[in-house]
Amino acid sequence: MEVHYLDNASTTKPCAEAVETIIRCLTTDYGNPSSLHKMGLNAQLYMDNARKNIAKVLGCNNVDSILFTSGATESSNISILGTAKIYGKRKKKVVTTTIEHASVKECFNELERQGFEVVKVSPNKDGEITYQDIVNAVDDNTFLVSCMLVNNETGYILPIEKAYNGIKKKYPDVITHCDCVQGFLKVPINVRTLKADLISISGHKVHAPKGVGALYVSKGTRISKSNLGGKQERGFRSGTEALPNIAGFGSAVEVYYPTIKERFEYVSKLKQYLIDSISKYSWICINSKEDASPYIVNISVLGVRSEIMLHFLEEKGVYISSGSACSKGEKSGVLSQFGLSERHSDSAIRVSFCETNTTQDIDAFATALVEGFNKILKS
Ligand code: PLP
Repeated sequence: MEVHYLDNASTTKPCAEAVETIIRCLTTDYGNPSSLHKMGLNAQLYMDNARKNIAKVLGCNNVDSILFTSGATESSNISILGTAKIYGKRKKKVVTTTIEHASVKECFNELERQGFEVVKVSPNKDGEITYQDIVNAVDDNTFLVSCMLVNNETGYILPIEKAYNGIKKKYPDVITHCDCVQGFLKVPINVRTLKADLISISGHKVHAPKGVGALYVSKGTRISKSNLGGKQERGFRSGTEALPNIAGFGSAVEVYYPTIKERFEYVSKLKQYLIDSISKYSWICINSKEDASPYIVNISVLGVRSEIMLHFLEEKGVYISSGSACSKGEKSGVLSQFGLSERHSDSAIRVSFCETNTTQDIDAFATALVEGFNKILKS
């Protein structure tokens, strides 16, 4: 059966260049970057190259600002919990939003348990988080703000640049963190204009392998050491580096960086094609905004539970996600934060693109969706 993979916000297929680099690092170039001999130095070159490529995408001049981690979850844990350890001694307030990924949300739940005051900014009645709402949540007692750039369930793009510039003007000492996972290599990100001190990104969302991510740390921002040991990653994250994964990440970044704009335009056309194909049905509701990231489209299939539709589509070779980011049966609640009724969130599915998707994938999805709707409602 032909596969129509439309779940790229969950994970992507590693690109050929990344796979080739990984194989090389597992077979011939398998040295330890800490070793002093030639094989170690060669391994270090792969690390340097990956760091340089990521720094370039983020518009960051200092390659040492990039630390490798096991993924964005670790990057955000280090950022949020680590900042609280260092900056949370005198100040006690932190600010986030109600639409964050679990990797950020759970860190703030932990800070709440530790006694910090956690302010969560939620979307207004139009489903928007305004930059003023974020800025206004910050005060003299605040030491950390963490808001995502692109929401993983709906593609909603938050006004982070305006918010963080506003915060830095009024409260220059507040540390700003941004989960850029769904924006990295998809929308332009520049550390100088974004004014984020800490940025989390992930490899497997951008055609690199799973188990690798990075954390950007601006000059002067202090983070606590996450592991103690051999002092790798400037002493912040001890442990032998996952060279194949990091090198593969570097290769994927090199491949995709030059085409951010072209891919955005191509995927925007796919999004429009999808909307034109299905919005004629009265039982369909498009939950993502027009100006959301074109890579993610959240749809409610009214009357059909997300998981039932997901499994029906799977039988037809079409892979999507449940729209409400169910993790082991637990709903994130993010869609209700955007104002969706229970009926809409229970029937939400998420279609997410990458540049290798075609209109044929969308045709297959739309055909299977209509078939599924008719069949499931009749049964
Ligand atoms: N943040 C967002 C917005 C995500 O979509 C994801 C993955 O789904 C993560 C963080 C976690 O990334 P990782 O799998 O690299 O830990």
